[in-house]
Amino acid sequence: MENFKLLKIEDSLKNSLEKMKFTKPTPIQAMAIPVALEGKDILGTAQTGTGKTLAFSIPLINKLILDKNAFALVMCPTRELATQVMAAIKSIISDKINIKTALLIGGEAMQKQLRQLSNRSRIIVGTPGRINDHLKRKSLNLSATKYLVLDETDRMLDMGFLRDIERVMKLIPDKRQNLMFSATFSKDIKKLAFTILSNPVQVEATPENTAVEAISQKVYRVAKAHKTGLIIKLISEGNWKQVLVFTRTKHGANNLTKKLIGAGITAAAIHGNKSQGARTKALKGFKDGAVRVMVATDIAARGLDIPLLPHVINFEIPNISEDYVHRIGRTGRAGAKGEAISLVSADETTFLRDIQKLIGEKLPVEIMEGFEPDPNASTTPIKPGQNRQPRNKAKSSGKG
Ligand code: ADP
Ligand code: MG
Repeated sequence: MENFKLLKIEDSLKNSLEKMKFTKPTPIQAMAIPVALEGKDILGTAQTGTGKTLAFSIPLINKLILDKNAFALVMCPTRELATQVMAAIKSIISDKINIKTALLIGGEAMQKQLRQLSNRSRIIVGTPGRINDHLKRKSLNLSATKYLVLDETDRMLDMGFLRDIERVMKLIPDKRQNLMFSATFSKDIKKLAFTILSNPVQVEATPENTAVEAISQKVYRVAKAHKTGLIIKLISEGNWKQVLVFTRTKHGANNLTKKLIGAGITAAAIHGNKSQGARTKALKGFKDGAVRVMVATDIAARGLDIPLLPHVINFEIPNISEDYVHRIGRTGRAGAKGEAISLVSADETTFLRDIQKLIGEKLPVEIMEGFEPDPNASTTPIKPGQNRQPRNKAKSSGKG
């Protein structure tokens, strides 16, 4: 599809899209929107940055314009993601489209949410936890829900939201349209899709159309104790701006952030232990360019909409291979080129092998002079959940 104008959607919606300078749908939008407009269920696979938000929001709003008694529920894994989805929805609801919304996320005062809910909000966007809080206190009634969206479903399951999703399913009408998106399709996702969706049309952004193609990937083999030095060198000598760095743990994120700041590089950490205010502030600073480096854990970074992110660095590579795909999906968004660099120490060798198996390619490996790998380091992998601190503190002191 060449242009949004060709879609069978309300003119008011077309006008909003035109105002936002959105003309050509992305591949997932071109596939999903016409199917969703027909009222069919969708099971969509597409990586981050492929434009899934509008793929479900355009048909959702169109439906609510046509049916004044219809309500929609959108579930997202994180507060940040829910906030972004709500912002995207609001931006295409023009003044002429009078549909009220409610954003139900944790870490924020109930009062505002209760006010929004009492105002006949027809679009509810939220995280499964907070949605259930409202269901429990009966401030949310889902009996008129005709449109359900599950965004980033794989991550919602990773975050343990299955029970919350199941509770919601018990309270919403059987007769409804469902759109479910996920970057990966595990057994659990398929099982959930089977219980929630009815005769879904499967849409998939083909690999050539995903962000991954535009990303150049590279591995530096490096001693654990040299990682911080190497990252500082790469960022300062490359004069990189807007760098997203992934660490495995919250503690690791804080630690690295301190060291970057110590080296004169503006940085902020974003992870689950940070208050909502601190996370919003960090993200804003990063988007504005006031903060060069954002150091994040996987869960915190999930779904953040940061357009045109040029650099992603894995300070530690993830032990869940799918997370690697999610992480590098943060770069090369909307067709722009990006670079993903992974710093790999000896104990991460097995994880690297697993990642290469998943993505079906061998990543080019480099060694930087002065930051060589430790030839005596053990290649025994670190256990999931274990903190990636050097086991032998004395050996690495002063550097890592
Ligand atoms: P995803 O949910 O797949 O990660 P998003 O919906 O967050 O992707 O979209 C990623 C970025 O692409 C956003 O900044 C969004 O504004 C932009 N975008 C979405 N659709 C289009 C389009 N049709 N044309 C240009 N940019 C778009
Ligand atoms: Mg998204």
